[in-house]
Amino acid sequence: MHWDKSKLLINYQQVLQALDAANQAANRQSPAGLLAVSKTKPATMIRALYEAGQQDFGENYLQEALDKIDELKDLPITWHYIGSIQRNKTRDIAKYFDWVHTIEREVIAKRLNEQRAGLAPLNVLIQVNIDDEDSKSGCLPDELPSLISSMMGYENLCLRGLMVIPDKAGGDAFVRTKALFDEMAERFKLPQWDSLSMGMSGDMAEAVANGSTMVRVGTAIFGAREYA
Ligand SMILES: *Cc1c(COP(=O)(O)O)cnc(C)c1O
Repeated sequence: MHWDKSKLLINYQQVLQALDAANQAANRQSPAGLLAVSKTKPATMIRALYEAGQQDFGENYLQEALDKIDELKDLPITWHYIGSIQRNKTRDIAKYFDWVHTIEREVIAKRLNEQRAGLAPLNVLIQVNIDDEDSKSGCLPDELPSLISSMMGYENLCLRGLMVIPDKAGGDAFVRTKALFDEMAERFKLPQWDSLSMGMSGDMAEAVANGSTMVRVGTAIFGAREYA
């Protein structure tokens, strides 16, 4: 795959500037960070971006991600798994990633916890289905307290917060997700409950204004994705 390094670096600087402006506009004490979503993009692009200062990368497709993680194993990249999780894929996710954003069921959390044994705790977020739609993935807001309760006993998982992919941009889904995040903070008082993964290329600033601590940006950095 051909790609233009100067274009990549310009895009990256523009995204960093936009994120910085959003953090300032929101008067954020601790600024929201940037997760570069590199799905479908080659390892060479990830390497170039890492050299430009990007530390955190997000991947959705497990086999593709494992190939890139192997190719880039000389770099201390922080890898985030942000795709849907099938039960038979948890072993590799537990072994090769630093963060998982897409926990939505107890059985997946349980397997990741078991399979993470012997390594540093895996940072995890619960994906919440804030729009309450049958077609969407994520845990329903009502189910959240029981999922959190069960995960509190998992010593190989560090539960850091919530992740959301709202149904449509411009809605109040960010506001409702932040409210849920704060409510769970109050209720469970987890010491590491500090992360709210929300916002993508199209709604990054709005997400930061509403309390995101980590935006997941693909297209605005890497350009449009082409699927074979
Ligand atoms: C692909 C993807 C992104 C990045 O979306 P862009 O619109 O390309 O910025 C963010 N989050 C998740 C969960 C994704 O699957």
